[in-house]
Amino acid sequence: QAKAAGRNNMRFFDPAMQASIVARAALEQALREALESRQFKVFYQPQVDAGGRIHGAEALLRWEHGKHGMVAPASFIPLAEETGLILPIGLYVLESTCQQLVKWSGQPGMEHLTIAVNVSIRQFRQEDFARQVLAVLAETGANPARLKLELTESILALDLQDIKAKMTSLKSRGVRFSLDDFGTGYSSLAYLKQLPLDQLKIDQGFVSDILVDANDEAIAKMIIALAASMGLEVIAEGVETVMQEQKLLHLGCRNYQGYLYGKPLPVDQFEALIRRR
Ligand code: C2E
Ligand code: MG
Ligand code: MG
Ligand code: MG
Repeated sequence: QAKAAGRNNMRFFDPAMQASIVARAALEQALREALESRQFKVFYQPQVDAGGRIHGAEALLRWEHGKHGMVAPASFIPLAEETGLILPIGLYVLESTCQQLVKWSGQPGMEHLTIAVNVSIRQFRQEDFARQVLAVLAETGANPARLKLELTESILALDLQDIKAKMTSLKSRGVRFSLDDFGTGYSSLAYLKQLPLDQLKIDQGFVSDILVDANDEAIAKMIIALAASMGLEVIAEGVETVMQEQKLLHLGCRNYQGYLYGKPLPVDQFEALIRRR
């Protein structure tokens, strides 16, 4: 984890500090202040197709802390979820990304980009979740077809009819859905097939050792076959080497995200990356 943080130039708070109640209260207060003083920044990580074309980005949240530098989401998303602060934070991410979509829609070479936004179960569980998303789309004027929401298998703990109703109401406007970290949860395939998904995202845990671990390769292969048979798109996350990409392509996966194509970047650097290509 420390190594990954270094590569990303991001810091993780000391776990011992995270565990202390006093420190947690301080962190919660700091999160509230961060929201008010706009210390949260949305970074964009490229998503590419088999031809190397960047077709979209995943929005990843960073906290630009005055003293601690750039803080990784793993250091604050769990507490934000526990305290409910993920609700205003998540709304902020959605608003920023929709505003970004509107900007890109007017920039040559950027109009085709889609943005994938992570949605925590706490957000999705809100009774008016779909209405909130539609309101942000309407207020910003963003094209719903350019927005993809990433859910995790944890939502399957919720009422299936309720999940379907929320997803369907957003899908009827053009919003798409991806299932993030796929394979790490406890999805019942019988449940899964009832969800109106558009994409499965192979967890990076299966990608990192795909060349050396036959089990990981078998799981990736199974997910790719499952996606194909369900008519879903599939994307692999955490692709770091050309060899991993070649293996995934060979298995039938034609969409990739990972350091091989670019780290999560501030918007100006992400745009520069697209212009260079
Ligand atoms: P995730 O949605 O699965 O995002 C992918 C994570 O993998 C990101 O970590 C990304 O920087 C990292 N990654 C991408 N490519 C590579 C690679 O090639 N190698 C390695 N080692 N890592 C790679 P990050 O940005 O630290 O985010 C961690 C998690 O925090 C995300 O996992 C997501 O669950 C959560 N998160 C981030 N932003 C948001 C947000 O706006 N809302 C919510 N609810 N959760 C968020
Ligand atoms: Mg994600
Ligand atoms: Mg993921
Ligand atoms: Mg993950």
